[in-house]
Amino acid sequence: MSTKLDIINPATEEQIASVAVHDLDATNRAIDLASKVAPAWRRVTPVDRSRLLRRFADVVDAHLEELAQLEVANSGHTISNARWEAGNVRDVLMYYSGAPERHSGRQIPVAGGVDITFYEPLGVVGIIVPWNFPMPIAGWGLGPALAAGNTVVLKPATLTPLTALRLGELALEAGLPEGVFQVVTGDGTMVGRRFVTHPAIRKVCFTGSNAVGRVIMEGCAEQVKRVTLELGGKSANIIFDDADLEKAAASAPYAVFDNAGQDCCARSRLLVEASAYERFMTLFEPAVKAVKVLDPTSDSSEMGPLITAAQRDTVRSYVDESDVAFCGSAPEGPGYWMAPTVLETSNRKSRAFQEEIFGPVVSVVRFKDEAEAIAIANEGPYGLSGSIWSRDIGRALRVARGVETGTLSVNSNSSVRYSTPFGGFKQSGLGRELGPDALLGFSEEKNVFIATEES
Ligand code: NAD
Repeated sequence: MSTKLDIINPATEEQIASVAVHDLDATNRAIDLASKVAPAWRRVTPVDRSRLLRRFADVVDAHLEELAQLEVANSGHTISNARWEAGNVRDVLMYYSGAPERHSGRQIPVAGGVDITFYEPLGVVGIIVPWNFPMPIAGWGLGPALAAGNTVVLKPATLTPLTALRLGELALEAGLPEGVFQVVTGDGTMVGRRFVTHPAIRKVCFTGSNAVGRVIMEGCAEQVKRVTLELGGKSANIIFDDADLEKAAASAPYAVFDNAGQDCCARSRLLVEASAYERFMTLFEPAVKAVKVLDPTSDSSEMGPLITAAQRDTVRSYVDESDVAFCGSAPEGPGYWMAPTVLETSNRKSRAFQEEIFGPVVSVVRFKDEAEAIAIANEGPYGLSGSIWSRDIGRALRVARGVETGTLSVNSNSSVRYSTPFGGFKQSGLGRELGPDALLGFSEEKNVFIATEES
């Protein structure tokens, strides 16, 4: 362990903590410990593993407010969002606490004997987390990985390590054996890179940018290491003429400005049917202007600051080269504030329409019919999320089948439920998290044939 890194509250620009930047030796020590305890963790009986995960969920529940407040201070999330995020970790742990006794192999009819399969843990899993949703993304890997019998080393994003560190302490408090879940803070190119290169790590679960995702996938190829990638998005919110326009317009700001737009599932492309455009925009403009961008510790805050000044500069660079339709408002500072911003789209080839902006910016565009809506939604390399607003369920399903994306909501802007699969099409990722099948991603299936015929 060499240096320390200051952690800054993005709403106040004040230093709130100082965290270790782990070096190679410290990272190796954590991985070695995770390896050492893996056989004992794998032997914990299913009922006891269930009990420990349930206890972990209960301890998280008992510290929900503390975790939420910590996230507000570290990440600038609104307190209401942060409470949901801490609750999501608890719920994911609770959901997967039921898995150890149900994650059973198969018996397959074959000639000459009996064939059975076992789901066996991989060993040590490395989870690499981005800064935009530190708690949920930690939980989505942690729950199924531990339930399937793996040990976990987790690297939080350099900017936002505080809740992960606290979750590590709470795991011990819940009775998880030392080494089963460890948090290693530090640089991506040191700690994260070591997760990729260390042979004891059997799987890397990475959530973050496409640029780093590609490097990780390439690195994992060296050892044919298992890898899950959850990457960027540029999702569409498609509004048809026959939708409940009032509901769609009231919801649309939160579909993109939630978490100040720093959300891989942000519906940052707003596609409105031409015949409904004027009516929709008349409702949408006041809804955007009503978004309460203020102190994230306040219960009434609906949007906090961006994570850093640099992130805000990047986001502003997209706005500077675009036509702004209208904006909401934001505090002056201190803090990395930016107003919710709505862009008109005259050129769909523009950077603002093509790239993931990762800030409170949405580009609005008209479409003439279903086919064009699908074609626009499918433009570009991403396919993570999206919404369709229509009262015609046949149309909604036709469009849902046409859009190349991992998760879609009809008449809703929700993206994530712990019991359903989540992940991306195209360059938005590889593999799925959450839901019952996530357990398969943390297991090897071993096939055993037992001959019963006398030869
Ligand atoms: P990032 O790629 O810069 O960093 C993600 C993590 O990888 C961090 O912990 C970082 O320290 C680490 N890292 C950096 N370089 C590394 C390397 N060479 N080897 C190993 N690890 C390394 O991403 P970010 O800026 O923290 O997060 C924003 C991105 O994450 C956005 O593109 C967003 O869409 C994406 N994201 C995707 C999902 C999803 O589920 N699909 C969810 C949240 C965020």
